[in-house]
Formats: sequence, structure tokens, C-alpha cells
Amino acid sequence: MSQYKGFYKKSIAERLEILKRDRHINPDYFGSLPASTYNNMIENAITTFELPMGVSPNYCINGRQIVIPMVTEEPSVIAASSNAANIIKQNGGFTSSVISRVMRGEIAFVNPNNPQAIQDFIETHQEALFDNAHQAHPSIIKRGGGVQSITTRHITKDDNTLVIVDVLVDTQEAMGANMINTILESLRTLIETNTQEHALMAILTNNTPECLVHAHCTLDPSTLKFSDTIGQKITEASLLSKLDPFRTATHNKGIMNGVDAILIATGNDWRAVNAGIYSYHSRNGQLEPFTTWSLNDEGMICGETTLPLALGSVGGSIGLNPKVKLAYEILGFHDVKSLMECIACVALAQNFAAIYALTTDGIQKGHMALHARNLALKAGAKPTEVEALVHLLLKQPHLNSDTAKACLEQLKATHSS
Ligand code: NDP
Repeated sequence: MSQYKGFYKKSIAERLEILKRDRHINPDYFGSLPASTYNNMIENAITTFELPMGVSPNYCINGRQIVIPMVTEEPSVIAASSNAANIIKQNGGFTSSVISRVMRGEIAFVNPNNPQAIQDFIETHQEALFDNAHQAHPSIIKRGGGVQSITTRHITKDDNTLVIVDVLVDTQEAMGANMINTILESLRTLIETNTQEHALMAILTNNTPECLVHAHCTLDPSTLKFSDTIGQKITEASLLSKLDPFRTATHNKGIMNGVDAILIATGNDWRAVNAGIYSYHSRNGQLEPFTTWSLNDEGMICGETTLPLALGSVGGSIGLNPKVKLAYEILGFHDVKSLMECIACVALAQNFAAIYALTTDGIQKGHMALHARNLALKAGAKPTEVEALVHLLLKQPHLNSDTAKACLEQLKATHSS
């Protein structure tokens, strides 16, 4: 992993060389998504929309060295992730493990004539229900998964009674939305026929508390800046994120900067995962921070997160997009549980980077260099002029597009004279 030292200072070609030496990278996967593919992925397609893809190389997860592929348009996200992962690696790395991985779907009956009849049917016809579900999607049994339970839940509010049939499914390597929906629609017909009740809808849920992963890391304050106060400050940052809802939102947004970047890179449905994480961390009636930090008895800083991550390593667009295949080659594995473990660690690293910066130097110091680079590009600097212009811009009292344009002219004038 030492080959990644100073990775950010290298050219794109040099970075790719380093990556190729360390990982198996198929050159075919650098191609664009062909029109023949994307025209079949969505409706009314006209072109593709590009986003930068980078890597965060410093992760050590359960003793394994991992390079994280990230797709994001936001400056500083990858720098923060890499820097935090490096610090955490020097402190022993991350430990992460999947707690459970089962998906859930629901068949909803709103104000049925006889709620008890639905419950009775479900309880007394388990074998027929399981058979029906597995006939609807037989291949999942061959793959080692399948339906795990079919139960009922009642919701009563004012004059309304809802009966929800909960179906838990082990979808193996797939996120399973289509698989579950196929199973649910088949079960719905069976239940409706036998109870003479009509379901309002049958659909998987993106609230996935049975699909959980945990990650933690421990840091020695003496390896950090301001070592005598940093532990206390990080625990105070954690307390603030728990007690102040305005901070909770931003604390969690910073975490999702990294989580969404790897979700996109690995072809996962990031809207689904976001819905799941926010639902799980609001389950006590109020949004809670996705991570917590505390000091243990030895004065070490302990970070942990528990996230519901309803991911897939197959299905959806995963097998279609060459850049997604590239992402899995960079990761060096292609199974959903390892991916869940990795993403939980990215969440923790991204959050550590943010609160470490916020409680010490502030985040603007790190952001400014990237902001200056963006301004330089927008001002029209040629690739050969960018470095010099960034250097000049960082000496200016105010960074904005007018300053960037004026500095670019100044630079061009100096070079032509
Ligand atoms: P797919 O419909 O692509 O199904 C995945 C398929 O992969 C399975 O049916 C299975 O087919 C095959 N497969 C191959 N190897 C394995 C394996 N080891 N384990 C499990 N399956 C395997 O995708 P999903 O059902 O996962 O659905 C995900 C998609 O659904 C995403 O694109 C998502 O955006 C979308 N979606 C999301 C919704 C939501 O979140 N609310 C709602 C509706 C859709 P076989 O076994 O037959 O070979």
C-alpha cells in the first residue's frame, strides 16, 4: 500500500499505473456506456451524464488492504476519506461485520372487512404460502436464499385498521427489489383468493432493519493533532450531533458524501439505501446521528456505526455498466457482505475526517485548494496553467470567479512578456 503514498500528487496516468500494479484492472472497463446499453436501461435516453471517479486507497478493513472506488462531483470528499482512512489504518484499521442481511416486503390491507381472517390464513397456511412464494421465484432457492418468514402486523389509528403481511426474504447477492415484488404479487393473489379481501398494494420496503452492518475503529489521541484535547472535542462533536437537530443533519450529510460515492461506483440504488439509513436512524421518533464517538477507559477514541445497507453485488445496472465492473476490480472482491462492511467503514472514515477537521483547523483550509482549482478551470485556465493559477489564487484575500479571471490574465501577461 506504500505505493499509494502521495497518490494525489500524481498524474492520472501515473495513478492508473499504480492501480494496475496493485489490482487487476481490465482496460475494457474504461470504455463508456454504449448507447445500445443505456437505451435499454432507462426510458427516453438521449446520452450519458459523466461524473468523476476516483479512489480512496488507504483503507484497512478486518486486516485487509482495500482501495475504495468513489464517484462524486464534490471536492474534498475523497481527500477526506483517504486521509481519515490512513490515520485509522495507523491506529489498527477498521473492524466491521454484517449483523444480518434479510430484505422485507409488505402486502398491505387497509380497513379489510375481517382483519382476523387475514391473520388466521397466514398463520394456518404457512406451507402453502412458502410454496407459492418459491414457485414465483424458484432460482433464489437454488442460490441458497428464499423466504424466511411470512407474518402479520396490525396498525390501528383512529377508526382505521391496517393489516400488513410482512415477508422476509434472503435475496443472497441481489438487493432483491424485483425478486421480492414478484414474490409479493404472487402471495397477494393467493391471500386475496382465500380471504376475499383486497390488498391495496404489495411492494418491498426500503426500511431494512434486518439488513444491518456494524463498524468500529479505535484511535490513540497521541497520533492526532492537539492530542491533549482532541479526544474530548471529538466526543463533544458526537454529543452535539445527537442533541442539536441542525447539527445532526449536517453530521449525517457528511457521512453520506462517502457512502453515496461508493454506492454509485458499485452500481447500487443509492436512493433506496438513503431511504433505509434515514428510516433506521429515525426509528426512535427523531433523526439520530449515524455514528457515535466516545472515550474508553484507556482514553482511546472509539468510533462506531450501525447502518442498514440493502445492497446488491448483482442485479439492476451492476452487470451492464463497465465502470461499475471497474469499481469491483478496484475493490478486489465481488460479494455483498464485504461491500456492506466496506461502506460502513467509509461512513466512519468520512465522519471522522469531518469532525477532526471541524474541531481543529476548520474545514475551509482543506476546501480552499480544491475550490481554487475549480475556479481556475471555470476561469478558462489551460491544463498547463492550472497549477500556477491555483498557487496565485491561494495568496488572494478573496476567492471568487472575478479574482480567478483577473489572476489568469495576470499570469498570461507575465508569460507573454
Ligand atoms: P434484478 O431484478 O436485476 O434481479 C437480480 C437477479 O440477479 C436475480 O433475480 C437473480 O436471477 C440474479 N442473480 C445472479 N446471481 C445471484 C446471486 N448470487 N444471488 C441473488 N441473485 C442472483 O435486481 P433486484 O431484484 O436485486 O432489484 C434491484 C433493482 O430494483 C435496482 O435496480 C433498483 O433500483 C430497482 N428497484 C428498487 C425499488 C426500491 O428500492 N423501492 C423498487 C423497484 C425496483 P436468477 O436467480 O433468476 O438468475
